[in-house]
Amino acid sequence: MSTPSKKALVIGAGFAGLSVATFLAKKGWSVTIIEKHNLPGGRARKFEAQGFTFDMGPSWYWMPDVFERYFAAFGKKVSDFYQLKRLDPSYRVYFDQTHWDMPANYTELAALLESVEPGAAKALDQFMEEAKYKYDIGVGKLVHQPGISLKEFIDIDLIKGVFKLDVFQSMKKHVARFFKHPYIQTLMEFPVLFLGALPQNTPALYSLMNYADIKGGTWYPEFGMYSIVQAMYDTAIAQGVQFYFNEEALQIEVVNGIAKSCLTKSSVTGEQKHYEFDVIIGAGDYHHIETKLLTSKYQSYTTSYWETRTMAPSSILYYVGLNKKLTGVTHHSLFFDTDFGLHGKEIYTEPSWPTKPLFYASVPSVTDPTVAPIGSENLFLLIPVAAGLEGDTEEVREKYFQELIARLEQRWGQSIADHIVYKRSYAVSDFISDYHSFKGNAYGLANTLLQTAILKPSCKSKKVNNLYYTGQLTVPGPGVPPSLISGEVVAELIDKKYINLQPTHV
Ligand SMILES: Cc1cc2nc3c(=O)[nH]c(=O)nc-3n(C[C@H](O)[C@H](O)[C@H](O)COP(=O)(O)OP(=O)(O)OC[C@H]3O[C@@H](n4cnc5c(N)ncnc54)[C@H](O)[C@@H]3O)c2cc1C
Repeated sequence: MSTPSKKALVIGAGFAGLSVATFLAKKGWSVTIIEKHNLPGGRARKFEAQGFTFDMGPSWYWMPDVFERYFAAFGKKVSDFYQLKRLDPSYRVYFDQTHWDMPANYTELAALLESVEPGAAKALDQFMEEAKYKYDIGVGKLVHQPGISLKEFIDIDLIKGVFKLDVFQSMKKHVARFFKHPYIQTLMEFPVLFLGALPQNTPALYSLMNYADIKGGTWYPEFGMYSIVQAMYDTAIAQGVQFYFNEEALQIEVVNGIAKSCLTKSSVTGEQKHYEFDVIIGAGDYHHIETKLLTSKYQSYTTSYWETRTMAPSSILYYVGLNKKLTGVTHHSLFFDTDFGLHGKEIYTEPSWPTKPLFYASVPSVTDPTVAPIGSENLFLLIPVAAGLEGDTEEVREKYFQELIARLEQRWGQSIADHIVYKRSYAVSDFISDYHSFKGNAYGLANTLLQTAILKPSCKSKKVNNLYYTGQLTVPGPGVPPSLISGEVVAELIDKKYINLQPTHV
């Protein structure tokens, strides 16, 4: 007779939920995932409309090594699931008067920088050497720590290199030390925006993101970002993970500091169920699980703790279908053609709807003909806005949409408005209703100095012995690669702790 497995229940089938589930299943656990939507992927879900296929959230595939490492843990390669194409140019940046295409080739990039700032090519070499060190230590070691205790960081390499990691210097100052030209500074500061805070509030440790950008490259998985979700879902099924979709976790019942069961409700039938388990993992938004599924006695953090966190921004998104091909556009375009200082202030220090927003445009159909009907273009637009903004109305969304389309027509020199055949907007209130997102954050908790490693919401509950958390509000932080790592780290932590557990629920 085979030994019964220990049981884990995972709330949420985003990247982190899929990751923790697959790793625990591989370690022999019996794993069940409850997901409120009808498909896995969370913020990276997709939808189809009028022949267009839209990735709903992430569109930048960076750090291919992290994905390779994930699938290798299950004896697979990325290419067993999807093919990757390196984009060249990696992306285009629009400044006030001009634009730059970021060459994938390092020598060409160095020449571009040198052309506007003599000495910048040499400075780039030095900058990248430091960034590589941080990437090797940061992604190789630091992000794999659960952030439970300072002892995790007592490592001879870390201690020797502590100053080289630049934890206490801001990214803004760090970049300014190497480059003077404002366009180069913008370019070098951009990658840390993925981590949810401004360069002046992000430790220069995260210049590891420049290494990811410039050396690691910008890639596109065939058929879109959802290919990653599909591949992880297939991996989970192969590992025996059980999924229940359209089912929302409503309550975690705790007795004497031990979570005993989870109450769920089906959005299709209204049926309620109780799941029992040895360990439960919250892979939905941390704040929601803490404050809505647990009674206050078992919450690790107070209301004022949450209110004082720096959340990553929310976003206004537009999924647009055009009935013509655009000319001369790139897959990714960043519009840094307005005042970044003002927009940054309107996101972080004086939260308000942006006066003249910076924005991002993606046209994946430039690379992938399968995401739009023949002769059509798939356009995704994103404006970062402050988390927690009130007044997310149709009028507000429409105002910004008209503004963005006008700016695109002007910068791209072609008509767009007359060719829109499909449009859907998605903003703060959708993040809240779809994901129970705290203040409508789009990508979690920002990676500021005071919200790094052990200073993040802990991946292990402080009050409930067998409750863990994974995903973009805990270690290591926002983004697809960190979410994959988060699941792995938490699975490791759980499995170590419960190594000798005799299953109680069989
Ligand atoms: C617009 C946008 C653009 C982005 N761009 C990029 C990018 O280009 N590159 C990149 O690397 N990262 C990007 N990110 C960040 C990245 O997508 C996220 O960090 C990552 O997907 C978070 O994964 P997660 O598993 O932590 O959370 P989620 O994806 O939010 O998954 C949580 C899941 O839990 C479910 N859930 C919540 N509560 C419950 C409940 N009570 N019961 C049952 N289920 C529940 C939710 O439905 C969801 O499926 C972007 C994010 C957004 C929103």
